[in-house]
Amino acid sequence: MQHFLLSAQSRSLSLKKIYKMGEQSAYELFRAIRWPETDGEAVCPRCGCTESYDIKSRRKFECKGCKHHYSVTSGTVLHSRKLDFTDLLAAICLFVTGAKGMSAIQFSRTMDVQYKTAWVLCHKLREVLADETDNVVLSGEVEIDGCYVGGHIRPANLKTDRVDRRRKEHQTGTRRVVIALRERYGRTIPFVGKLESEGVDIARGIVDPDATIFADEGSHWDLLDHEFKTGRVNHSTEYSLLNGKHTNWVESYFARLRKMISGQHHWVSPRYLYQYAEHAAWLEDHRTTDIAGLTRKIVDAAMLAPKSNKFKGYWQRS
Ligand SMILES: [Zn+2]
Repeated sequence: MQHFLLSAQSRSLSLKKIYKMGEQSAYELFRAIRWPETDGEAVCPRCGCTESYDIKSRRKFECKGCKHHYSVTSGTVLHSRKLDFTDLLAAICLFVTGAKGMSAIQFSRTMDVQYKTAWVLCHKLREVLADETDNVVLSGEVEIDGCYVGGHIRPANLKTDRVDRRRKEHQTGTRRVVIALRERYGRTIPFVGKLESEGVDIARGIVDPDATIFADEGSHWDLLDHEFKTGRVNHSTEYSLLNGKHTNWVESYFARLRKMISGQHHWVSPRYLYQYAEHAAWLEDHRTTDIAGLTRKIVDAAMLAPKSNKFKGYWQRS
């Protein structure tokens, strides 16, 4: 079966189209993506057997070989889904439509699902999209920069009550830096650390030794000058020179991340900051892909990604 969403002609996708397609058709789409080699026919995840009893009422299968019960999402990150397939597809469509992401609270209201369902699903999807850049090596022209997030203390109203917010004892301990490396015309890879200087080691790990790295005047980046071809930018005296010495690509990524945090999430725990950083990077790198293409990328990756232990039963634990 060739699902219409899998055809090259499907350029656009909307919530209206998803709900019009109906539950059976959405289910068939997940099957076609999970089991492309059998054209959507079930394959036992335990023994690989293609013979199964179709328990249609529950959308489950029983393997004729090993008697294992499974569904189209068994063993994937979406395995304990609480949503119908149309809702799941709609959720993914919404998730990729928001150029600055979407908060779990807005998600739960729009989708009419419980907050915790929305929260867990969004985190699983972010985990899935981050897999896309595992093992990526950046080459050619690569920009590196850091962006500090969180740990902000509001100054007191009265000047006499104010403290020196730069002092360690007056800080909240939640300040982190997102260090991003972005290949021009390529991928953006973010990391979360405590100091921007941690970016030097990261660059050593994921940048091709023949690449040229562009960085600002921060003295910790001087180390890069010894190991890579570099182009340094002095922001206090010059802006985006025509000679290509700039960090505009990585800065536009940070602009998106900042808007995502301030506009959607308002506050992010240092524990999950890397997830928002990955989400913004993914959106930035795929900014020219249409909604159907973005949705397909997520569904494809989710059906490949093994089930998430990180967010499994998260709400039960906490
Ligand atoms: Zn089996």
